[in-house]
Amino acid sequence: MPQTVTRFAPSPTGWPHLGHAYAAKVARDLAKQDEGRFLLRFEDIDHTRVRPEYYDAIETDLHWLGLDWDGPALRQSDRTTAYAAALEDLRHIGVAYPCFCTRREIEDEVARMISAPHGPEGALYPGTCRRLSEDERNTRLADGQQPAWRLDAGKAAEITGPLSFTDLRHGHIPVDPTLLGDVVLARKDIGTSYHLAVVVDDSFQQVTHVTRGEDLLPSTHVHRILQTLLGFPEPVYLHHALVVDENGVRLAKRHDSLSIRSLREAKLTPPDLLARLP
Ligand code: GLU
Repeated sequence: MPQTVTRFAPSPTGWPHLGHAYAAKVARDLAKQDEGRFLLRFEDIDHTRVRPEYYDAIETDLHWLGLDWDGPALRQSDRTTAYAAALEDLRHIGVAYPCFCTRREIEDEVARMISAPHGPEGALYPGTCRRLSEDERNTRLADGQQPAWRLDAGKAAEITGPLSFTDLRHGHIPVDPTLLGDVVLARKDIGTSYHLAVVVDDSFQQVTHVTRGEDLLPSTHVHRILQTLLGFPEPVYLHHALVVDENGVRLAKRHDSLSIRSLREAKLTPPDLLARLP
């Protein structure tokens, strides 16, 4: 059996809260069950939302909680060349197409459609730019229009054939390639996306077990497709429950009173805090 490798992959875009503590603990505990490695990765591709103090807060809070990671933390902002290479591979396979639509144009198109495809989080991309001819694409590119790049989910599914993944909590799950539709692989402004970066880095860091909140379960369908197209190994998954407040609402930035630093300032000890996790 290869050594278990897990990772905690927060975005440094807010003060870490109990939800982060739980996600880190799940990943750490799974790795330490068999003397494996627990890694830290900053998912900081979106420079418009990242702030330097949040990197420090994540490291400070993890140390304070005794959730120390192995080796240096990886920053996705240092990995743009790897994401560009993966996008190039997907273009070469013929499953990535340029999308020139603005958000507004997509909303208008969806509103015009009689039955627009929907996913777990609302309307999916209606495929407008997938239908552009090669000439139309080249004209727009030659005009200097900067595109986003999208996955042609239908074509990708034809290439990969049926896929599935194993989740330690939810069991065996067949991949539904239509679930999130033609997702963005590379945003215009940052040249990559959550989906592409996470798949490239889990492979690069040799992560064997991907643990994360169950809100991200739909994304795993896309990730299995990308892993297969890019020739990456298949990790085992564990989509864990989300930490919620007393009203059952998942924690977010507005819950500053449940941030780890606020709880520390309120004189909670690490065992007190860990005892509040599910
Ligand atoms: N960066 C994501 C988050 O903060 C986690 C991504 C993942 O684990 O795949 O929720």
